[in-house]
Amino acid sequence: MAGRIRDEDIALVRERSPIADVIGEYLQLRNAGGGSLKGLCPFHDEKSPSFNVTPARGLYHCFGCGEGGDVIRFIQEIEQLSFVDAVEHLAQQAGIQLRYEHGGRSSRGDQGQRQRLIEAHRAAAAFYAERLLSPGAQEGRRFLSERGFTRADAETFGIGFAPPGWENLTTHLRKKGFTDKEIITAGLASQGRRGAYDKFRNRLVWPVREVTGEVVGFGARKLDPEDDGPKYLNTPETPIFKKGHLLYGLDLAKREIARNRQAVIVEGYTDVMACHLAGVPTAVATCGTSFGEEHAKVLRRMLLGRSNQGGEVIFTFDGDAAGQKAALRAFDETHGFSSDSFVAVQPDGLDPCDLRIQRGDGALRDLVASRKPLVEFVIRSRIVEHNLDTNEGRLAAIDAAAPIIATIRDAGLRQEYAKDLDKWTGFMDERQVLRRVAQHMGRPEGERRPARGRPARRCRRPGRPMSPPTTCATLHCSASARR
Ligand SMILES: [Zn+2]
Repeated sequence: MAGRIRDEDIALVRERSPIADVIGEYLQLRNAGGGSLKGLCPFHDEKSPSFNVTPARGLYHCFGCGEGGDVIRFIQEIEQLSFVDAVEHLAQQAGIQLRYEHGGRSSRGDQGQRQRLIEAHRAAAAFYAERLLSPGAQEGRRFLSERGFTRADAETFGIGFAPPGWENLTTHLRKKGFTDKEIITAGLASQGRRGAYDKFRNRLVWPVREVTGEVVGFGARKLDPEDDGPKYLNTPETPIFKKGHLLYGLDLAKREIARNRQAVIVEGYTDVMACHLAGVPTAVATCGTSFGEEHAKVLRRMLLGRSNQGGEVIFTFDGDAAGQKAALRAFDETHGFSSDSFVAVQPDGLDPCDLRIQRGDGALRDLVASRKPLVEFVIRSRIVEHNLDTNEGRLAAIDAAAPIIATIRDAGLRQEYAKDLDKWTGFMDERQVLRRVAQHMGRPEGERRPARGRPARRCRRPGRPMSPPTTCATLHCSASARR
C-alpha cells in the first residue's frame, strides 16, 4: 500500500477544516441552539431540517436518515470520494501540503484520481485564460466586447480561449506531468488513433465550477462560423463533471441566493454573466441540459436558510414557442419543489444577455421583477390554445386548465385561480368553473367552500388513491411553506 497519508497530517486536515464552514458550502445552516446548527439534509429528501452539525465536536448527524460523522466523512459522502480523495480535497482547500508514508512529497501515483482531475482543470483554466490575451484570440475578445463584457468581466468569470490546433492544451498538460489517460478522463482531450487530442479548439471557454469553486469542466462556444461542430460544446460526463446537478455560476451566486431567498435560472453562460453584472447576482444556468430534479435539490438547500420559508425560483424564458415549452417542462419538474416557482418572460424574445446590451442593466432587473407565478403562466398557456369567442372554445379552455388548478394544494389559492380562470376565459360563471376544477380533484362538494379567513393549514392531498404521501411539499402548498 503505497502512499498512505501520515496520521498527523490527517489530524491537521480535520483541525483546519471547520466543519460548519465546509458543510456551509453545500447547504444553509442556521442556529439550532445549544451550540449546534441545522439545515436540510443533503443525503435524503426532506422539507424540514433534521441535519445537525455540532462545530465544537466536529461532527454532523442527520436524525432523518442516520448519516453522520466528521468533516472527512461528510466530503466522502457528498462528493462520493474515497477517504484519500476526501482528505486531499480538504487539504487543498485548507492549503495543507500532505506528506505520505514512504517518501516526503506526494508523487503522482499517490494522489486520488479526483484530485488529479481537479489539478488538470486548474492548469487548463490557467492555460486558456492566458491565451485569451494572445493575438490569436482576437475573435474571442471581439465576441465578448460585442456582448458588453470588459476584460475585467472576463477575468471575474475566468473566461479563456482554446486555440485552434489539435494538441495545444494536451502538450501543455503532458509537460506538467499529466498522462494522456488523465487528460482524456478529465474530458479535456479525446482519444484519437495517434493519441490524445484537444477537446476544445478555437473556442471561447467558460470554466464551470463546483459550488466549492473548483473548476470541474468547461463550456465552449465556437468562434468560426465554418466550424461544423455545435455552437456550444460542454465537457462530457466525467468522474468530476456531473451535468445533472451542476449549475453554472452557483459558486458566485450561492451567498446571494441564500441572502435574497431567490434564484434566477437563465439559459446560457453569457446570460449568467449579464445578470450578475446588471445587479441580479442570484442567476445560475444549467450546463447543456434541462433543469432537473437534482438541480432543484441543490437550490433548495441554498434557499432554505435561516427560516423554513422557501425562497423564489424564477425561470426566465423567451416568449417564443421553445421558451414556452421549456417553462411547461419546468412546471412538470418543479412538482416536489417546496419553493415557489415563477416565470419571467421577455416578450421580445431577447435573452438576458441581449436584453442588457439593448436596454441596459435596469431592463434586466425589471425582467426579474416582472415574474409571474409559474402556475399562472401554465394556465394562461393552456387557455391561449383555444378560441375564446365560442362557448365550445371557452369550455374546452376551462377543461384544459382545470387539471392544473386541481394540483394546487392550498384550497384558498386553488379557489383564487379558479376565479381567475373564469375571468381569463370570459366564461362568467365562477361556480361552474369551480365545479369543473373539483371534478378533476375527485373531491366532494364540501371542498369548495369559500376561502375566507385562514387559508388551509393542513395539506389536502387529492383524493386520488395513487397520490404519493409527499405531496404536501409540492408547489404552492401553504402547509409546507408555513411549517
Ligand atoms: Zn438525512
